[in-house]
Order: sequence, then structure tokens, then C-alpha cells
Amino acid sequence: MLLKHLKRIIILISGATVLSCVLTVVLFFNIHARSGSAEIIFLDVGQGDSILIKTRYGQNILIDGGKDNRVLDRLGRNLSFFDHKLDMVIATHPDADHIGGLVSVLERYDVDLFLDPGIVHDSSMYEAMWSIINSKKIPVNYVSQRQIYEFGDNVILDVLYPNIDFVGKDIEDNNLASIVAKFSDNKIDAMLTGDAHIETENELVALYGSYLESEILKAGHHGSDTSSSEEFLDTVKPEVAILSVGADNSYGHPKPRTINRLKARLITILRTDETGDIRLVSDGEYVELR
Ligand SMILES: [Zn+2]
Repeated sequence: MLLKHLKRIIILISGATVLSCVLTVVLFFNIHARSGSAEIIFLDVGQGDSILIKTRYGQNILIDGGKDNRVLDRLGRNLSFFDHKLDMVIATHPDADHIGGLVSVLERYDVDLFLDPGIVHDSSMYEAMWSIINSKKIPVNYVSQRQIYEFGDNVILDVLYPNIDFVGKDIEDNNLASIVAKFSDNKIDAMLTGDAHIETENELVALYGSYLESEILKAGHHGSDTSSSEEFLDTVKPEVAILSVGADNSYGHPKPRTINRLKARLITILRTDETGDIRLVSDGEYVELR
């Protein structure tokens, strides 16, 4: 049911946050339909990442699309038959296990805004993705500094990283430019780290400290040992960690040392290779697995 159809407003505030020289983008999205809860669904796309957030105000956010068309089936199961609207799509970085599935998603769904770190990457998949974005004239925001998106009262996506300008740059390791964002549904927070490495985690801890605290953590880089440092875990203090991995993947993800760091902190571990889609439902106060 369409309750309200607000015209999108974009307000640019320069240097208005706790950090100097930060451009904050506050963007109010169309409110489609209100519900009493939000869903954060870690889609089972095999070895890769794909996260669908359905806000309590009816907006859909997709972060990454896994490596192939499997994401279409997962989206079909988690969105209503008539829902072909994605208010925001984020490509955390251009590795195949994150953008492969986005090509067909962008073809089939109506996308209001696309977020990308903007790095140079040479692959036919990446080229295909940009060609669809350009032909459909999908608005793009490159993330080169903190950006805050407001979806309604107390529903916020705070894009924390990259806070350096990678746009047009060819970097050796795409993971170093991976977008990191914190989604908040009132008192429930989810830290979504893409394939960020410990270097990025250290920078986030230094910049934001206890602001990073989140009940839910999507462990960086599929539970690789290059992510989820002790310091990061002790700062984020998650109650549950999601590992987005394919069964018997050739990378050996997740790594036993990462699992041990999570277990030592009594953090509940949920894995897409064991559970399939992991659907967490927030009422703004509490979150449960459904
Ligand atoms: Zn990855």
C-alpha cells in the first residue's frame, strides 16, 4: 500500500559532522509502505556476498549481487512478485563475487541510486555493469568520503568507507577500496564490511571508536584471516557474525583463526553455506532470526 510518495530531496552539508572536511549526503527516500519491522537478509549466493535490506518504510537496499544469476532467484524469494524496485544498490568493490550478479539485477530491476567506490577495474563483467548503468541512466554516487542516507525516522545507512578518493584509480587490491556501511534500524545496528581488510578496520576504529558498535556484523572478506581483527571485534562488539561463504569453496573461507576469534568472544556465528538465506528481523529494539 502506498501511504506517501515524497519527492526525493538531496541536501548537501559541507563539514557538518563530527569530522572535519567530511561531506555528508543526507537523502530522503520515497516512503513506500510502513511496517513494524526491518529485514536484513544475507542471501545465499554461494561464494560471494549479497545482502538485501527491506526497511520498515518499504525501501529495498541491495548490497552486492554475488558472482552470478543466483541472486535473481534469492531476490525473487524475498521480494513480492510485483516488487521490482531497488531504492539503492551498492557495489562494495568490483570483484566478481560481488558484482557478477549485479549485471542481471540492474537489467531487471528499477534502481533509484547506485553507490560505487569508482575504482578502475578491467573485466567484462564490470564493463557490462557500467554499460547497463549508463544506458538506464541510473544515478550514481561515488563513495570517496562519508555519506549518510536517511530512509525515515531512525532508519539510516551510514557509509563510512572509503573516505579517500579512489575514483578513477587503478589499485592493486580492490578490497582496499571496499565500501563499509552501518545500517541502523532504531536501536539495531548492522556493520556491513564487504571485503574490507584489517587496514581498513584499524582506520575505522581510529576514526569512529564506539560508534561502530553493532549487534550484527557481516564479517569482512568471507571470514578470511585478513579481516575481523581482535581490535575490530572488541570495538564493534557484535552479538552475531554472518559469514557469507560457499560450501567447500576453494579459498578455505572462513578461516579457522577467524572462527576462533569469534568463538572466543561468544559471538553467534551464522553461515550462508549452512543456513541458506539468513533473515534477521528487527523491530527496532530486538532482532531475531526467522
Ligand atoms: Zn569477496
